Amino acid sequence: MRIQLLPSTFDANGCATQEQRLTCFLIDDCVAVDAGSIAIALTNEQRSKVRDIIVTHPHMDHIASLPIFIDDLYPTLNEPMRIHATPEVIRLLERDVFNWNVYPRFSELTNDYGPVMEYVPIPLGEPFPVAHLTVTAVPVNHIVPTVGLIVSDGEKSVAFSSDTAETEEFWSLLNQAQHVHALLIEASFPNRMAQLAEVSRHFTPASLGEELRKLNHNGLDIMAVHIKPAYREEVIEQLNALQIPNLKVMEPGKTYDW
Ligand SMILES: [Zn+2]
Ligand SMILES: [Zn+2]
Repeated sequence: MRIQLLPSTFDANGCATQEQRLTCFLIDDCVAVDAGSIAIALTNEQRSKVRDIIVTHPHMDHIASLPIFIDDLYPTLNEPMRIHATPEVIRLLERDVFNWNVYPRFSELTNDYGPVMEYVPIPLGEPFPVAHLTVTAVPVNHIVPTVGLIVSDGEKSVAFSSDTAETEEFWSLLNQAQHVHALLIEASFPNRMAQLAEVSRHFTPASLGEELRKLNHNGLDIMAVHIKPAYREEVIEQLNALQIPNLKVMEPGKTYDW
């Protein structure tokens, strides 16, 4: 499985910067997990292939450029953009984003080929298909309804925590899963901001270190993501100090093969 954490920002030469401001993972060049930077960072070829987007929760850093992405493709979509999300998240997207005020309600619009956007409600705890992948979603502990995911291509699986603090169901799902090669997990704030991390339901390196004791798999790659750019160096230093084998920081723009 090929996974890229899409960049959020670029330097003056057009090179991806390492700060992650938005969240969007691209799987096998055709399925997106969240859509923060989807309209910003895809190649034209990827843009022509991505028709399935899983939205873990409706926070802005995870959906920021989703409306722009659909807008860009509007005249050319010969199949709808499928938004896979829980019914609660679909309701929030319709109410707060695609509401004719913030942006058009694409779910009610058609182009020459038919509908341009379609919601696909996802179940909790049951596997469901997304393109060539099988995905299982479970609730995690964030301040809005949010799901963590395990994504399998039939041979290998990768787990996505999305935004969360201490949680249980995600770990039992992950510990039961087979052939898990990587865990992409959030580490938002430095340890000195534990209180803010707690109220906003995110991890610090210290709370992540504690949480990883719940993981039964050995040897999988643990990739830290969602590090707040303002504290990036500090968080990375504190992650390194945990001395957890296989714990690395995921680099925006780089393609990982698992
Ligand atoms: Zn969030
Ligand atoms: Zn977030």
